[in-house]
Amino acid sequence: MNNIFCPNCGSDSIEKKIPEGDTHYRNVCSSCNHIIYENPKVVVGSVCTYKNQFLMCKRAIDPQKGLWTLPAGYLENDESVEEGAIREAFEEAYAKIKINNLLAVYSLKNVNQIQVLFHSELIDENIKPGTESLEVGLFNWENIYWDKIAFPSVIWALTNFKERQNLDTFRVFTNPI
Ligand SMILES: [Zn+2]
Repeated sequence: MNNIFCPNCGSDSIEKKIPEGDTHYRNVCSSCNHIIYENPKVVVGSVCTYKNQFLMCKRAIDPQKGLWTLPAGYLENDESVEEGAIREAFEEAYAKIKINNLLAVYSLKNVNQIQVLFHSELIDENIKPGTESLEVGLFNWENIYWDKIAFPSVIWALTNFKERQNLDTFRVFTNPI
């Protein structure tokens, strides 16, 4: 018994098995043989700077409500990773940003997430909390609430940005226009 329905035929007789020629267990519909693949979700976001400050958002929603994070969230269909990062900054902090370059790609295997994080710059300092934030702010490095960070990857990204700050950076290639 489970609550999974087949997206192809609507049947609830779903079986966990390794399809012929496959290597992983899948949910397979016993009625129409449709295989329900589950793959990692993509999270996009940015370490967003303004002068020497960092844009941080205090989460208004669970998980980790009340803790601080970077503007980031799930990529939508029909959206590029850059567009997604720009949208998330606006949704969470009404921040208008310019994508600078790719900072990091993290594989979070325990939560089946791929995080694609950019360095971005605020175009102007007009920010205010969006519906997913209790508070937003620009912080000097030493004033970031390091003991109230929502997710380990937020610390990774900020630290990686700092490590890279004085190095020559390379342009990361994306889809051709
Ligand atoms: Zn089916």
